[in-house]
Amino acid sequence: QCPWGAPSTTSISCSLADVMSEQLAKELQLEEENAAFPEVVAAAEGPFITGENIDTSSDLMLAQMLQMEFDREYDAQLRREEKKINGDSKVSISFENYRKVHPYDSDSSEDEVDWQDTRHDPYRADKPTTTPRKGFIGKGKDITTKHDEVVCGRKNTARMENFAPEFQVGDGIGMDLKLSNQVFNALKQHAYSEERRSARLHEKKEHSTAEKAVDPKTRLLLYKMVNAGMLETITGCISTGKESVVFHAYGGNATEDKVIPPECAIKVFKTTLNEFKNRDKYIKDDYRFKDRFSKLNPRKIIRMWAEKEMHNLTRMQNAGIPCPQVVMLKKHVLVMSFIGQDQVPAPKLKDVTLSSEDMKKAYYQILNMMQQLYKECNLVHADLSEYNMLWHDGKVWLIDVSQSVEPTHPHGLEFLFRDCRNVSQFFQKGGVAEALNERELFNAVSGLNITADNEVDFQAEIEALEKMNEDHVQNHGKKLSMFSSDGDPPIYDE
Ligand code: ADP
Ligand code: MN
Repeated sequence: QCPWGAPSTTSISCSLADVMSEQLAKELQLEEENAAFPEVVAAAEGPFITGENIDTSSDLMLAQMLQMEFDREYDAQLRREEKKINGDSKVSISFENYRKVHPYDSDSSEDEVDWQDTRHDPYRADKPTTTPRKGFIGKGKDITTKHDEVVCGRKNTARMENFAPEFQVGDGIGMDLKLSNQVFNALKQHAYSEERRSARLHEKKEHSTAEKAVDPKTRLLLYKMVNAGMLETITGCISTGKESVVFHAYGGNATEDKVIPPECAIKVFKTTLNEFKNRDKYIKDDYRFKDRFSKLNPRKIIRMWAEKEMHNLTRMQNAGIPCPQVVMLKKHVLVMSFIGQDQVPAPKLKDVTLSSEDMKKAYYQILNMMQQLYKECNLVHADLSEYNMLWHDGKVWLIDVSQSVEPTHPHGLEFLFRDCRNVSQFFQKGGVAEALNERELFNAVSGLNITADNEVDFQAEIEALEKMNEDHVQNHGKKLSMFSSDGDPPIYDE
């Protein structure tokens, strides 16, 4: 129903069609207004406007609408003038401050500016003009309040330097830059959200690089591998040890000479040197590295660990011992095939519960592998335990062979004896009745026949053998022939 009442039909001074169209237009307009400014209509129920003169609320609204239309035209005119003045120039002026901002489409407010930190900065070239307590300076016509556009603009520019240090505000010192409140507030908001965003990004980055273990140079190496298509993606860290960090990666495209396994393990040898100091004895006395050791700097020695692991794995691979397959070596980063599936590494023997049947099977497999390692690969693992054996595909896989040495190493037999002790103890505790004790195992693996029936004597005999070997090296300049060239068992008794 029309709020203006029914149209009067008594005095028709113009055509019916005109009246009708005018009425319709009014009706439509009211509908539109009601939708646009419901709160204004609601004010009609307020204390000042009664139900009888409900149409005055429409007057207020009409006034607002007229003002809005006026503002819109004014702003459009400003924009046109702006455009005319600026043309194609890269430096432009703005009439932003002169815009008639309607309360409905602006969220700027001066209060927002006022809580900005304005602590005195001694490094600032010129202090922004301050307004005294009373809120204005000057007299009569020349009065300037704190809301003065120029003063306010200068202050805003000065305050901008309190933004986060990463936020590039440029060097405005010496220039008379004035920022409008609106622009300042927008910038401030942007600066804060930028700060939060970069903090989040930084957090993520820290996590994905696995405990700072990977230095920028290593990261670059890894990126290069991904870039070259060798690796598809590096998904994450499997293990962080004292001396190495291991990552999982999906293999990339095969090259002409290399098939890259679908899943890879990347072993990064840590370049923090102190961890490696106590491993000197493994490599210093390994004659394969003797000539090089003295000449190398610590960084290169770490690369030698990676290189050693690669060589040892290759020997094992050739002997058919289940172990990771070498994909490639780049400096201190060794890429090998992944033992496990779908990013889940195979469990260590210490973490897996095997049936007694599997346990027995695993034991015999390890006995066999130790013999192969010694006889065919001419190696002693030197860190063999349930921590460095993985259970995968119903069998045991040997890993972590960077410290493995040849049996003629000055401490090679001691290392072997320690390995045997670990293996014996693990399987005896694991209920494998057939498991040899550590001395029996040592003899079975080495082919030596040390008869001592207690550990102390046994160890003494081992050390005596090692010394004999060393003395021989001293006197004859080369290793005692523990092996014939085709890899037969060692002959200690010359
Ligand atoms: P560390 O010297 O730190 O002991 P390892 O070579 O033993 O280095 O690797 C640490 C861990 O990473 C292993 O215990 C194993 O869980 C995992 N790992 C290493 N290499 C592989 C691989 N090729 N496939 C699956 N997991 C691996
Ligand atoms: Mn290990």
